[in-house]
Amino acid sequence: MRTGNTKILSVLAKYLLFCTLISSCYSSPEFSDKKSQIDELITIDKMNDSIIIIKLGYDAVTGILTPDGIVVIDAGISNSLTQKYRAIIEKELKGNHFAYLINTHGHHDHTGGNQVFSDAEIIGHEKCKIEISESQKDQAKVKSNYLKITQQYEKKLQNLDSGSVGWKAACCQKYRYQCAAEDMLNSRKIMLPTKTFRDSIHINVGNVNIDMMYVGKAHSESDILIHIPEKNLLMVGDLFSGGGITHIQYEDKYDVKRWLQVKKWITDRMNRINIVIGGHGEIMGKEDMGYFLEWIENKMVETL
Ligand SMILES: [Zn+2]
Repeated sequence: MRTGNTKILSVLAKYLLFCTLISSCYSSPEFSDKKSQIDELITIDKMNDSIIIIKLGYDAVTGILTPDGIVVIDAGISNSLTQKYRAIIEKELKGNHFAYLINTHGHHDHTGGNQVFSDAEIIGHEKCKIEISESQKDQAKVKSNYLKITQQYEKKLQNLDSGSVGWKAACCQKYRYQCAAEDMLNSRKIMLPTKTFRDSIHINVGNVNIDMMYVGKAHSESDILIHIPEKNLLMVGDLFSGGGITHIQYEDKYDVKRWLQVKKWITDRMNRINIVIGGHGEIMGKEDMGYFLEWIENKMVETL
């Protein structure tokens, strides 16, 4: 009996040592926080029966229900988080057929979760493809950046009151970057748009029209506007936020002709725009859109 027990204890000890080794290989100290908090930090903005925005800090994924499937705008920073957003969209919009995912531009925090919607056609501007590929070329660098930012937020959290608004915001940020880094340990695939366009494109999903237009170099190399007239909805990506505050990075490279086309494109659609949604989930309206049009007008006069 005694010998048998010793054997069992020795096998158990070896098993525990094995488990410890495995877990120390796969979990670095910065991943030690309680990730169960994530679900509590995710927010759902249900605009009506067919439009929903899922947010976690700066992550924002919008689902739009059509009779022929769901159209998703942007995919967040990480696969594991976007899987959670997808599950919420499926539950809230009562459907699991995803017709399209549209990337408003190629930045990693809008395209990192593209893989989650690989069953849908992924639409983006032709430069969106290049932008994603370029930014993900050096995977080791991307991962180390994600880890560095995770640690910065970890430090920040230590100086904030647990549960305060600032703490929650920092928590969301930490989790986003932490999950993006973890994705890279879990053989994440970089998913590029499967359907691209140069100037503008129109699609019809179950009698819902979707018009997209390229803005030119603006906040990124690949910004587009997305108008869905049947929903009175305009998605503007990271072009501007409330009050028409712009987030333009290429200030010295305005393509005046294109910007004037963009202004006309928006103006022509103004009577079918009530809801304006920004790339990080900010819900805006006609007034904000008006400020942005004013900005285009002033900027182009200045540039000419
Ligand atoms: Zn961006």
